[in-house]
Amino acid sequence: MSTSRSAERVATHVLTVDEALARILARIAPLPAFSCALDDAVGAVLASDVTALRDVPQFRNSAMDGYAVRGADVATSPVRLRVTDSIAAGGSPQRAVARGEAIRIMTGAPLPDGSDTVVRVEDTRQVGNDEVEITVGTATGTSVRAAGEDVTAGSTVLAAGRRLRAAEIGVLAALGHATVNIIRRPRVAVLSTGDELVPLGSDLGPGMIHDANRYSLTAAVRAAGAEPLAQGIARDTADDLRAALVRAALADAVVTSGGVSVGDHDHVKPVVESMGTMDFWSIAIRPGRPLAFGELGERHTPLFGLPGNPVSALLTFELFVRPALLRMAGRTWLHRPRAQARLVEDIEKPAGLRFFARGVHAAGQVRTTGPQGSGILSSMARANCLIDLPEAGTRALAGTDVTVILTDLPEDH
Ligand code: AMP
Ligand code: MG
Repeated sequence: MSTSRSAERVATHVLTVDEALARILARIAPLPAFSCALDDAVGAVLASDVTALRDVPQFRNSAMDGYAVRGADVATSPVRLRVTDSIAAGGSPQRAVARGEAIRIMTGAPLPDGSDTVVRVEDTRQVGNDEVEITVGTATGTSVRAAGEDVTAGSTVLAAGRRLRAAEIGVLAALGHATVNIIRRPRVAVLSTGDELVPLGSDLGPGMIHDANRYSLTAAVRAAGAEPLAQGIARDTADDLRAALVRAALADAVVTSGGVSVGDHDHVKPVVESMGTMDFWSIAIRPGRPLAFGELGERHTPLFGLPGNPVSALLTFELFVRPALLRMAGRTWLHRPRAQARLVEDIEKPAGLRFFARGVHAAGQVRTTGPQGSGILSSMARANCLIDLPEAGTRALAGTDVTVILTDLPEDH
C-alpha cells in the first residue's frame, strides 16, 4: 500500500527544470505584430522576414575619389590618360570611357560605361587641364563597388525574430523601408505577496521588510525588453490576492512572488486554481522550489508564481520567465550562452535537485560568490554567471569542469 502510494507520487512527479521550461514554452506564443515607423523601432523584434526588393547598392559605383578608367590601360605605370569628364556622387555619367581615357569620379558616383576600375587620386598626378598621369599600376576592378554587393534583390536580409539594433535599422533604411513590422512589447504585471512587505519610502515596523522583489523583478522584466506594470503588494488573504490577480490578468503575463509554498498563508495555488488552471507548482530545483505556472481567466494569461526568497525569485525569473517573455516578444533566440569552466572550489548540493550556484566566471575558471542561501541576494549581485549542476550527485569537486550560464551576455542560438 505505502509502496504503491509512493509509486503514485513518483508518477505525478516533480518536474525537472528542462521539463518545466518545455511546458512553459509550449504555452507561449508571440504577441501580434504591428507596423512601426523605422525611427521608433530600435530594440523591437522583427515580426516577419525582410526580403530585399532591390540590390544595395543599386548601381555600380566608385569606392574612392579618383579616375574611372579601363583596367587594361593602367596595369603598368606610369601612363598618361586624357580626362574627358567629371562625375560627382548623385550625378549620372554623360559619356563612356574609351581606350586611353579617364573620367574624374567621386566616391559613390555611378561608374561610367566602358570603365571597370578606379585609380585613387593619391595614385595619380594631374598634368595640365585635361590629362592625368597614373603613377601606380592598378589592377582591374580596384575600388569599384558592384551592384548588389551588400544586399542582393530577393534575398532574406533580416529574419523574423531578430532584435533591431542600430545596424539593422540602417540596413532597413538602405533598402527603403520607412516602416517595419514588429511584435508588440509584452506588458508584464508584477505583484508581490506578503503581510511582512513594506513599500519603499515607508518605515519598517517590527518584523517588516522592504519589498525587494517588486524592484528586482520589474527591473528584470525591463531588462528582458518587456514593459513591467508594478501591481504593488497583495496581503496574505485569498480575497486580496484574487482581487489583485483579476487586475493583473489584463496584462500579457503575470509574475507574482511569494505565497506559493505550503505555509498557512500561501494562497497563490488555490486562488489561481479558482481563477483558471494551474499547470505545475513544484520543480526539482534549488533554489527556486516551489515555482508555479498556470493560466488566469478567459484570456488564459500566463501566470508565473515565483518563490518569495529574493534569490529564488530572480533566479527562477532568469531560468523560466525570461525565455518565455522573449518568445512572447517574438524572439527566436531564447537562451543565454553556456560555457564549460574549471571549478576552483568544492560545491555541496542536495541530491535529486538541479542546483544553480551564483558564480564568478573569468579566464575559463569559475568560483561561487560565497554563501549561497536563498535569502542572500548579494550573492546574486556579485555574480556574472550561474553554475548549473545536474540533479544527480551531492557535490561538485574543485578541479572538475562544470557548465556555467553566462547571465551577463545576450541570448545565443
Ligand atoms: P514566501 O515564499 O512567501 O514564503 O516567502 C519566502 C521568504 O521570502 C520570506 O522570508 C519572505 O519574507 C521573503 N519575501 C517574500 N516576498 C518578498 C519580497 N517581495 N521582497 C523581499 N523578500 C520577500
Ligand atoms: Mg509569504
